[in-house]
Amino acid sequence: MRNALGLMLMSVVAATLIAAGGWFWTSSSRHSSAPQAIAAAQAAPAPLPAPAKPAASRDGSDVTGSISDKPRALPGIPAAQPKPACANPDALGVSRVVEIDTTGGPGFGFEHFKQLDFLGDHEVVLTFDDGPWPGNTPAVLKALADECTKAVFFAIGKHATYHPEILKQVAAAGHTVGTHTWSHANLNSKKLNEQTVKDEIEKGNSAVKFALGTAPTPFFRFPELQHNPAAMAYLGTRNIAMFSCDLDSFDFRAKNAEQIITTVMTKLEKQGKGIILMHDFQKHTAEAMPELLHRLKAGGYKVVFMKAKAPMQTLADYDDALIKDLKLPVAGTRPISTVVQTVSQ
Ligand SMILES: [Zn+2]
Repeated sequence: MRNALGLMLMSVVAATLIAAGGWFWTSSSRHSSAPQAIAAAQAAPAPLPAPAKPAASRDGSDVTGSISDKPRALPGIPAAQPKPACANPDALGVSRVVEIDTTGGPGFGFEHFKQLDFLGDHEVVLTFDDGPWPGNTPAVLKALADECTKAVFFAIGKHATYHPEILKQVAAAGHTVGTHTWSHANLNSKKLNEQTVKDEIEKGNSAVKFALGTAPTPFFRFPELQHNPAAMAYLGTRNIAMFSCDLDSFDFRAKNAEQIITTVMTKLEKQGKGIILMHDFQKHTAEAMPELLHRLKAGGYKVVFMKAKAPMQTLADYDDALIKDLKLPVAGTRPISTVVQTVSQ
């Protein structure tokens, strides 16, 4: 029955494609396949099977148009079956996406903010701090992509300027990118005055914007979860949501990946749900991710993905100052050939 239907649909698709002057499915690019599929549906007058889930809602893993391996399949003709939402049938996935209105700077994470209890039983939010960092952040990204799931990343401004290409990968994979100050300063420290606290926050915001090439999400996490009351009031005026956590993995002091997995799973069993704090900066965290995500799935936990209603508005003064700062160490812009000449070989 399924095969007969498939063949029928295949014929319809083939006929309409020929009628439309020929259109070929190119599934090599993960980003271009969805718009092409939509373009084809619009171009073809005959009804095409609607995908079970819109391709746009799928997650970062590679999903290619499945070309039928039946001998009757014509080369270059797409299979009639809808594209799967995720290449991994046993993936953890994303069970729910929530959009946050950050007006007034709402707070999340029961360790410090108890007003907004939006997670249901067995719902978790994955969050990662202190990146982007070579090796570890890409490994975390791969683990998340393999499980077709999404997370929130709180990037350190300095790290973002060191490795903008890695932070761009985080955003390109569809994760939320929030901020975590410029230099990971403890904003509750008595050594910092109000202005330096503001500078840490805003320079961090501008640095992440600079690295991404687009505004970050107005989500902020205080380094070391040190909540400075004046800074919290300030973030409120900036309409930036504040994130504590429900469940700290303490991955930064874990001896190995297994310890992180045990900590998270034990706390989850006790608490039943929560925003999980981890660090994509940490090697053991990156190592723990594939197994931890498996365990979450096996334990019946569901990932809720948090995004914001509107992007962060960075402050122009800080955007400009950052660009000036970053250019300071560059002595000049002369082409290398005018500076370095081989005179003897
Ligand atoms: Zn941190």
